[in-house]
Amino acid sequence: MTSDDDTGTIRSTPSTPSTSRRRIGITRSNKSHTSFFFRTDESNFEIAYCKICERANQNPYPYSRKGGNTSNLIAHLRDKHGIIKENYTEYLDVNNEVRYC
Ligand SMILES: [Zn+2]
Repeated sequence: MTSDDDTGTIRSTPSTPSTSRRRIGITRSNKSHTSFFFRTDESNFEIAYCKICERANQNPYPYSRKGGNTSNLIAHLRDKHGIIKENYTEYLDVNNEVRYC
């Protein structure tokens, strides 16, 4: 099965320029892959909830994304769900919505 989900791929890590994935004329955005899996609180823009946890236990831990810092969100996805920026598209459907198992 092939997927062209790469259209949403964003290289936001300035540290390791290891993977040289070719970008196919996509407009650059600051969205990190976490934005697909986290939902921003309606009343507080700085609070984000993991959609997967929310789906699972209805009481997700509110993560702060103050200052646009998403490293704790990235760590959550990696540690809790095994989602990293190299494979996150596997967890999204064609509409870039989280695929719940
Ligand atoms: Zn979660």
